[in-house]
Amino acid sequence: MNSDRTRYVEIDVKSALNKVTSAQYPDMRWSLNPYRGCKHGCVYCYARYTHTFFELDPDRDFSSVVFVKRNLPQVLRQELRKRSWRRERVSIGTATDPYQPIEGRYRLTQAALRILRDQLTPANLITKNTMCLRDAELMASLHRAAGFSLCISLITIDEALARSLEPDVPSPRQRLRVVQELARLGVPVSVAIAPVMPGLTDSEAQLRDLIQAIYDHGGRLGYHQTFKMYADTRKTLFAWLAREHPHLLLWYQRVYGAGSSAPRAYERKLAARIARIHDAIAPAQVDFPPDPVAPVGQLSLGL
Ligand code: SF4
Repeated sequence: MNSDRTRYVEIDVKSALNKVTSAQYPDMRWSLNPYRGCKHGCVYCYARYTHTFFELDPDRDFSSVVFVKRNLPQVLRQELRKRSWRRERVSIGTATDPYQPIEGRYRLTQAALRILRDQLTPANLITKNTMCLRDAELMASLHRAAGFSLCISLITIDEALARSLEPDVPSPRQRLRVVQELARLGVPVSVAIAPVMPGLTDSEAQLRDLIQAIYDHGGRLGYHQTFKMYADTRKTLFAWLAREHPHLLLWYQRVYGAGSSAPRAYERKLAARIARIHDAIAPAQVDFPPDPVAPVGQLSLGL
């Protein structure tokens, strides 16, 4: 099926949940991604490598060939009905945006949220797309039943820079409005400043304006993460820098040419900067309430 210039390929999957074993994410137990590839096409996207599993080009094809896991709801339902399922938290959108435009047609993310709620399984979800508002009531009901939190990814409030880095994503202003609306509807919502792009989005003034805007819209800062280079992102990002910010290309090539991380000194300075700005702006933060505790074992269906 075709929509605009992106090719959508329906596939069947054997499993919906992926066990997360990476030491990098000690708190993450299971991930779920209804799509593979992402129409949003952010130049810094770390998930591009997932397209190499299909012998596709991570630069050219990641946003132009998107796989749709059409049987994901059925498979997820079977997995969550197993006696062995411990109702551990499921993280949605770790390698794709679950609310990219094609979700409007397939509604796989919506179906997954409904199944998670019916099976009393807590979840969290990260997105850049305003389409998540469509499912606000469902998210709130999942939160009441088992626990749920939403994270909006927003790295700058500079509209032009955002459009250049994230060409197919709703604007920062629109995403802030989503934060405001979801908070009003009782969905626990935070903002991730991830990735912070060295030399592009990391100045004192930029971060202050962004964090101020988050709190002005009733949100809270979830976390930040400095840009990390994955092998298959290099080509896309370097080409973009050469075109849009040539004065930064050499620095990025030196730092990220072979390695994946920014220098430790940079990381420390950035963390201190964000903490200082955050402490000056944020009201005393109350943690989200703990998840309701669900009994472990087989459930009767429906709430
Ligand atoms: S929205 Fe997320 S998954 Fe999609 S291209 Fe951007 S960074 Fe990658």
